[in-house]
Amino acid sequence: MKTFEKNDNEFICRVCGKLVPELKYTSRDHCNKCLCSIHIDINPGDRANTCLGTLIPIEVSTSNKKGYIIKYRCDKCGMLHNNKSAEDDSFNTILKVMNQTYSVNNYKK
Ligand SMILES: [Zn+2]
Ligand SMILES: [Zn+2]
Repeated sequence: MKTFEKNDNEFICRVCGKLVPELKYTSRDHCNKCLCSIHIDINPGDRANTCLGTLIPIEVSTSNKKGYIIKYRCDKCGMLHNNKSAEDDSFNTILKVMNQTYSVNNYKK
């Protein structure tokens, strides 16, 4: 069964309002400015989830193979979710999450 669909479209971030461009090399799944994402997938890229809460970054860990792993919590259903960081993610924002100084309210449009 196919569980990964490439779904790489530009979108406007619902949290900070940034137009996030296509990523080209893989599916874009979060904003590269505030790092927020939408709880929209059950399996990566399938867009089959009806929760549609906002996934807010709560923790960042390093993985030598994949760069940074961003851990999210959904503000609606509370589900925890891990995502790889993208090449053009704001390093400043990643540092804030790491240092526990990130607040989604600082990014809200
Ligand atoms: Zn954003
Ligand atoms: Zn959710």
